[in-house]
Amino acid sequence: MRKPVIGITGAFVKHNASMEGVYVHQDYHKSVAAAGGIPIVLPFIDPEMALETVALCDGLILSGGEDVDPLYYGEEPHLQLGPTMPLRDEVEIALVKHALARQIPLLAICRGVQIMNVALGGTLIQDIPSQVSQPLQHSQRVERSRDTHWVAIEKGSRLAEILKEDKIRVNSLHHQALKDVASELRVVAKASDGVIEAVEHTGSAFAIGVQWHPESMAASNPLMHKLFVELILRSREKLHSVQD
Ligand code: MN
Repeated sequence: MRKPVIGITGAFVKHNASMEGVYVHQDYHKSVAAAGGIPIVLPFIDPEMALETVALCDGLILSGGEDVDPLYYGEEPHLQLGPTMPLRDEVEIALVKHALARQIPLLAICRGVQIMNVALGGTLIQDIPSQVSQPLQHSQRVERSRDTHWVAIEKGSRLAEILKEDKIRVNSLHHQALKDVASELRVVAKASDGVIEAVEHTGSAFAIGVQWHPESMAASNPLMHKLFVELILRSREKLHSVQD
């Protein structure tokens, strides 16, 4: 039996006319490989091609990156809105719906949890520093692997079950966050300023979204490694169920 294949979406980077394409931080690949999966990078062509490529995968990671275009949740752009990539939004919205419908295990990271919420009808805080009162520093200025704030985890949640903790330290590299949470999702972790730090799907599908970057902590933090192990475990079950 082969290892489960985990499709990972990336950011779209354009260096110059001769160098443009999808970019995925090495930490995602390493974390998936260390947990027993095969990481592959998903291209951005159009939503249809995205669904064809994810059909080859047993699990899915929506990675960090650009801000979501507020058009997709019915808002005008805030002054502090960062760069957006509407094609990526469209592709990932299609991927979220497809993954949930087909029970493809999903781990949504940073921008990933934001687009998952938007895909299911939720909205975003476009800029934490200007839209949250007395916010924490969510855009840390130390290395990515470093934990900088606490997160309280909801007892009885899937996330609490996986981590066996009700309070953890996380890194923080986001200026946006979830605002109105989609009805299919429930909040399972928050920072002390009230910012939503994790959600999970309320149905039978395995779909967890976290606002921090576990891929950049997993090499040195066993709790974060566990998140990837759980994704690979669920993806292996998916692989078996298809082959049986
Ligand atoms: Mn944070």
